[in-house]
Amino acid sequence: MNRLTKSLGISLCGVGALLLARRVMRKPLPDFRGQCVVITGGSRGLGLEMARIWAAQGAKVAICSRTAAEVSGAVNELSQFGKPVYGEVCDVTIPEQIEGFLKRVALSLGPIDVLVNNAGIQFVAPVDEFPVEKWDAILAINLSSAFHTSAAALPGMKAKGWGRIVNIASAHGLTASPFKSAYIAAKHGVVGLSKTVALEVAGQGITCNAICPGYVLTPLVEAQIPEQMRVHGMDRETVLREVMLLRQPSRQFATVDQIGGTTVFLCSAAADQVTGTTISVDGGWTAL
Ligand code: NDP
Repeated sequence: MNRLTKSLGISLCGVGALLLARRVMRKPLPDFRGQCVVITGGSRGLGLEMARIWAAQGAKVAICSRTAAEVSGAVNELSQFGKPVYGEVCDVTIPEQIEGFLKRVALSLGPIDVLVNNAGIQFVAPVDEFPVEKWDAILAINLSSAFHTSAAALPGMKAKGWGRIVNIASAHGLTASPFKSAYIAAKHGVVGLSKTVALEVAGQGITCNAICPGYVLTPLVEAQIPEQMRVHGMDRETVLREVMLLRQPSRQFATVDQIGGTTVFLCSAAADQVTGTTISVDGGWTAL
């Protein structure tokens, strides 16, 4: 190659790269500005971090939980992102409260674009000692609430021809462990519900998926550590490594921002054809 063709080649390469870059730039990048995102249980833990991530993306965020002080603390913090925020005390075990909450969200922030079913609790006991009221509460909060919120949000999403439902299930939605019968039954139910909703609305611009995190160090998990230390006679670090992360091959907790980032991915154009499925964020737990 002489000097002219060499330099022409280089400049043609440069032009090609520029054209390619422009084509890539024209692809729709995630833009959540102005979208209305509802996160149940958004007052702390995973839900609050997801709310922060969505608010930072420019979304209008609505959260609920049962604890007034946590709801107002979260609303104050989220308002600092400069977009409208709505928070309400709502117990997701009560369908009428869910319905009222979602109506007021729509009045205050506009139609719901993204619904994240995140509220959840845990209780651990053998099946034959499992308190019935704990079973009922776990099923109501971790599973039935996602049915009620989805039923309430779907008509608006269908009318718009766009919507995203992300259910926070668990590695325990795909696999089991002893002493967590209610939680595991509920989370398997959430996975099944996600698939069913996805099939019902396929082709209407609406997707529904479940995220299956392994252990994430949130208040829900923190609350289990003292009991595990007592039962196993271990210090905190040993319990974390040898008990809690035993089934998580990475031996690392998933983080709240990784789960939040996965919700954002599921709502981006890149995930338009991702529906009726689960995404594991579990350090390899379910690969075992
Ligand atoms: P936290 O306990 O930190 O947060 C749970 C949230 O749900 C709180 O805001 C809580 O508020 C709310 N909530 C609980 N009960 C109700 C109710 N009846 N009505 C309305 N809100 C309610 O838990 P995490 O952030 O860890 O968990 C969030 C989700 O992620 C859950 O579904 C959990 O099962 C799932 N998950 C968590 C994992 C982890 O390792 N942390 C792993 C896999 C899945 P309040 O109690 O004030 O009502």
